[in-house]
Parts: sequence; C-alpha cells; structure tokens
Amino acid sequence: MRIMPSVRFQSGDMVMGRWPGSSLYYEVKVLGFDGKSQLYTVIYKDGTELELMDQDIKTSSAFRPASRSRSRSHSPGRRRSRSRSPARTTRRSSSRKAAAVATVTIAETTPSSRREARLKEPVVNNSNNKHEKTEDNNDTANKNPETKVETELERNQAPRYNLRRRTTDGKASETKPQQEADEEEKPKPAAAAPLATCTTPLDFGGKIGVYFWLLFLPAWVLFVILQGNLEDPSLVNFPPPLPALDSFLDAQALGVVLLWILFQAVLFVLPVGKLSEGMPLKSGERLNYRTNGFFAVTTSAVAVAAAVYLGVDLTYIHSHFLQLGVATLLVSFLLSVYLYVRSRYRPADQLALGGNSGNVVYDFFKGHELNPRIKNFDLKFFCEMRPGLIGWCVINFAMALAEMKVQGLEAPSHAMILVNLFQLLYVVDGLWNEEAILTTMDLMHDGFGFMLAFGDLVWVPFTYSLQAYYLVGHPNPLGLPALAAIITMKLVGFYIFRMSNSQKNNFRRNPTDPKLAHLKTIPTATGKSLLVSGWWGMVRHPNYLGDLIMALAWSLPCGFSHLLPWYYMIYFIILLVHRNSRDTDDCRRKYGSAWDEYCRTVRYRIIPGVY
Ligand code: NDP
Repeated sequence: MRIMPSVRFQSGDMVMGRWPGSSLYYEVKVLGFDGKSQLYTVIYKDGTELELMDQDIKTSSAFRPASRSRSRSHSPGRRRSRSRSPARTTRRSSSRKAAAVATVTIAETTPSSRREARLKEPVVNNSNNKHEKTEDNNDTANKNPETKVETELERNQAPRYNLRRRTTDGKASETKPQQEADEEEKPKPAAAAPLATCTTPLDFGGKIGVYFWLLFLPAWVLFVILQGNLEDPSLVNFPPPLPALDSFLDAQALGVVLLWILFQAVLFVLPVGKLSEGMPLKSGERLNYRTNGFFAVTTSAVAVAAAVYLGVDLTYIHSHFLQLGVATLLVSFLLSVYLYVRSRYRPADQLALGGNSGNVVYDFFKGHELNPRIKNFDLKFFCEMRPGLIGWCVINFAMALAEMKVQGLEAPSHAMILVNLFQLLYVVDGLWNEEAILTTMDLMHDGFGFMLAFGDLVWVPFTYSLQAYYLVGHPNPLGLPALAAIITMKLVGFYIFRMSNSQKNNFRRNPTDPKLAHLKTIPTATGKSLLVSGWWGMVRHPNYLGDLIMALAWSLPCGFSHLLPWYYMIYFIILLVHRNSRDTDDCRRKYGSAWDEYCRTVRYRIIPGVY
C-alpha cells in the first residue's frame, strides 16, 4: 500500500464518498491523491471512478456511532430501521438518489425536446444504483451536523467532480497512477476483491431457495418427459413409473447432443449475416454480435430435410427423448461449472449486478459474468438463440413424424400441424429479429450461469415441445371453427408480441428515430427515457401479453383431456409474473422516481384492466 503522508486518506482506504450532486455517501475505495489538483481518486463498488475533494470524503466511522444511537432511540427512524429489508433499503436509497438527480416530466419525444431533456439531466453514471448505501447513511446524513445536506450554494459551486470512466480496454484514465492501473488489470478472484459484496437483493428464494430450484428444475423436466409417454398423463401422477437407472444415460444420445451443438456453433461463427452492436456495457464498450440466426435456422432445416431424405430416422428423438434430455442436462451442468469458475476471475466491469452473493451455490445458479466470451464466441448469445431454440423446432418436427408412425397416419394431424407451425413461427421470428434480443433482460442484465444455461439448452427444447410430444400418443381432432379460432388467436398474440418488442427495440437503438417521434416518454436520470405511450403505454409489458395469448393458442390444439399440454401455459404465467417483478425491481433501482412515475401513468403490468 502506498502511503501519502500529507493527505488525510491513503491509497486503499475504504471511506465514504459523496455522490455528485447529492447529499448521499457511498462506500468507496481511495485509489490515489493528486497533490496538484488536491483531488482524491476514488472507486465506487460498481467500478465508477470519480475525483472528489477532501470535504466530500468522510471516514466510515463518522457514520457508525450515529446509526447505533439511532437504533436505540424511539424515533420514527428506529421504526424504519427495524422493518428494513435488503430489497427495501436498495429501492429506497436508489429512488431517493434518483429523485435528487432527475427532474421527471412527461415530454413529447420530438428530437428537440429529447435533446432538451438530456441537457437538463446531470452527468452521472447510470449504474449508481449499484452502490450499496444503507438507510443509516441516509438518515445519518440528515442528522449528523458533520454530514449536513448539501446546500444550493454548494451545488452551484464551480465543477469539482471529475467522472472517470474506464476506457474500453479496461484501463483507467491517464491521470491514474500507473502502478495501480496495472494492479487493477490483473484478474482477481471475486471473493478476494474488496469490492465484491452482494449488490442486489437475492432472487429465487435466496441461498436456500436455489437448492430447491437446482433439484426441482431438472427433476421436473424428467418428470414431464416421463409423463408424456404415459397413456393417461397427469401432472398430479407422482411419481411416474421410473425406468431402470441405466436407461437415463446413453452415450449415443450424448453424441447426438454434442454433434448438434457443434453444428450450431459452426453456423454461429460463419461470417454470414450482419454484425450488430449490443447495448453499452458498464465500461461504455459495445460488443459486436453476428446476428445470422435466420441463416442458421434455414441451413438447419435444409440439413434436417436432407438427413430425412437420406434415411435418417428422426423418430429416434421421440424414442430417446429421456436420454437426450439427460445428456443435454449434463452438458448444461458442465457448462455452468465452467461459467462459474471463469466468472471468479473476471474484472468487475464484465460482471452482472447479481450473482455475487458469495454463496457458491447461489452464484453458480444465478451466474455472474455478463457476456462470457471465448475470443469472439459469445456463449450466452449462442445458447440463448441457437442450439435450444432451433433444437426445439427439430424436436417438434420429429414428433410429427413419430405421430404418423405411431398412429399410422399419412400426414400429421391438424393439431400437430398447428403446434408445429405456431412454434416454428415463434422461433423463426425470434431469429429473424435476432438483434432484438440484445435489448432484453437476459442479455443486458443477467449473468450467465446455470439458470440461463439450463433454461436455454434443456428447459426450452424439452419442455416447450411437450404439446407435440403429447400429441404423438394423444390425438385431438379439431373442427374447422376451432381451427379458425385458434389461428386467429395466434395471429393476434403474435402481432402484439412483435409490434411491442420491435417498438421498444427500435426506441432503445435510436431514441431520436423520426418514426417514433409521436410517442411520449419519461426522461430518467440515466440518460435513457421510458416509453409511456404506444404499446408501452397500454400496459408495462405488452410483449408479455402477446406472448401469453400465443401460449394459449399453442395449448388449445391439444384439447382439455389432460393438464400436461397446458403445462406451458401455467408455467409461462408464473414465469412472466415473476419476470415482471424482477424487471420492476431492476427498473426501480435504475430509474428511481422516473420508474414510479411510469407505473403511475401506466397502471397495469400485463393485462389491461386486470393485472
Ligand atoms: P423486455 O424485453 O420487456 O425487457 C425489459 C426491459 O425493457 C427493461 O429492463 C427496460 O430495460 C426496458 N423497458 C421497460 N419498460 C420500458 C419502457 N416503457 N420504455 C422503454 N424501455 C423499457 O423483457 P424480457 O427480456 O423479459 O422479454 C423479452 C421478450 O422475450 C418478451 O416478449 C417475452 O415475452 C419473451 N420471453 C419469452 C420467454 C419464453 O420462454 N418464451 C422467456 C422470457 C421472455 P432498459 O430500460 O434497461 O432498456
């Protein structure tokens, strides 16, 4: 540690630094002191570097005694402190902070008004929500004379904060002492890094909950696969008749899975299709993605057709569905172990907000590295869009062939054709608009760990194909009116889903797009705005609404005799409700009072007038 004799704080000290333009203090690490400018360089927990004046830095102990005495008192502050939960603390602090830095108004999105809104917004790091700040600090700041609230006069003083973002190659700006810059470039195990503490409330029932999910999710996949083969499948038949243990594992099935992933990987890296830019990362960097998903799905279709023409029996997928599922599960587990290990050696600006609880199982499940890449091969993007999604269509097609074989049909049933076409449309649309995934939660916010790896590789292809799997042994004839009603429902759902996703994606990519100028927006302190009219003014998640209507259209062709083919609908409602609540928490942390304003303006989450 380098000693700086003439200054109050030394390099490496953990102190409390004031956030620019506010009276809020966060824990920061002192990186250095510039004697010429008399400024300290400090780093916040999310990697933001700032230069602060001496008066904007306090020792951590300046905050502690006040909070202890407050907890003994009978002031209202004590009551707040007792009822505090981690989630509540974070929200409260972030919304207060956002309120301090943002003026929330609803504005027309003409380019000029947007420009104006931008200009009014203070230049702050968007990721400030990541700093851990407790209520204690906040209350202390109001009570302790030493940490008085900043006055208007102070705020209007000459600029004294110098925001120092990391450059794209991860280096700090040139004023940073070289020795320390070098030190920071070395990958550090997350657990060992002083700044690696849990930065978001835990999801999925926390450290205990993930044990349940880790066991339940794979078991559930195997359960529904076993159920689908029964003459009288039921979601309440537990346990299903179990085959011999050795029939779960099959080397040939593992080979098929690996070959499929390899084939998709080759298509993924071919220099075909356009390069799309991802959203800006914490470092300001934007990653490039080769979005050639449509090419991949069409090439795969040709390859599968050629294989069938050459005599490959695709009904193998139906007869070995369980073994293929187990093999894919194994692959996703090994991949997640690799992802967890490598996430511990990545620099802070490549990590997601969550997945750093310090609990191995939780972090393994949740994932911590945002965009794990091997050279230019983006593992998360690949898994999200290719082997599982395209594999799902191949499975559906194989089930159609199996239905003909099992039921002695010359062509697949109407119900099977609908399920196949509907889901094919969903996947092809996703791959055609592959770029849109770059603005979704999974890509922008979630670390890549077991949750996504398992979801992408196992859950999607093996449970989303359940309707087709079910129809192989459970025919459900459909009359013309039913066919027409189901097709109409699918098209309505698809329209809402596609239009709303495209609207948000286009807005995020180009907020000044003249085609979107008629939409109203709410500016936020982060520089991004929120759409508050158009599809996103109807409900807060119009894309979920469209998706749910489509899900209904996928289950209806299977009739009402069994619950199994309705599993997707039930699961999807739960998934989207939970996803909505996760996203709401994230957005409230990010946008603070601007998000609250959005929620007040657009009251319903997914279904207008209902939810
Ligand atoms: P969204 O695509 O809705 O992404 C949410 C993000 O959008 C927010 O974090 C926020 O990010 C931004 N946002 C929210 N509100 C607004 C607004 N008013 N104006 C502008 N931006 C806004 O969610 P998902 O990633 O969950 O879903 C994407 C699609 O994938 C959906 O259609 C969903 O149905 C589908 N999906 C399908 C699944 C399946 O298994 N079939 C599973 C999960 C999702 P920011 O502000 O940072 O840009």
